[in-house]
Amino acid sequence: MPSLPRRFALVAHCLLDPLAKVRGITNSDDGVQTVAALIGEGVALVQLPCPEITYLGARRWGMTYEQYDVPAFRKHCRDLLQPIVDTVAALIDGGAVIDRLVGIDGSPSCGVSKTCRGYSGGEPEAVYGATETAQHAQISAGPGVFVEVLLDMLRERGVEPPISGVPEDSL
Ligand code: SF4
Repeated sequence: MPSLPRRFALVAHCLLDPLAKVRGITNSDDGVQTVAALIGEGVALVQLPCPEITYLGARRWGMTYEQYDVPAFRKHCRDLLQPIVDTVAALIDGGAVIDRLVGIDGSPSCGVSKTCRGYSGGEPEAVYGATETAQHAQISAGPGVFVEVLLDMLRERGVEPPISGVPEDSL
């Protein structure tokens, strides 16, 4: 009798380690439920590294796609992801099936269908004025920088996983 395929999912780091998130942002219940459902289905979890805490630390401010879209951060992502992509290739070579990539929608790094855009740089109040500052970071369609790099690296190996996004909730 043939055995069921062994499946695994790539999951954003903070789904399992919410302490990595920017202070003031919590995981939504959707994240807990998504992880629990995957475990319940017997899907193995490969935890992705957090590109932001390893780049700017735990005291970082919330940032936007534009602020992370620089060569040094993209190189940082690629360096972090190399062993992950090697692991994915080895798992597939060993007969496992990639079930999905689970990102964090609304994150400038880990968003899959939604990211956070805005800020031209500079001192926000001086550039935008005190009352308009908060309006210049907005959720918009598209992946975050880290997910863009990851999908490119997987594509280079011929891997195109289904993707899903857990919404990033702010307190
Ligand atoms: S969304 Fe990505 S970058 Fe942000 S805390 Fe989670 S793992 Fe780190």
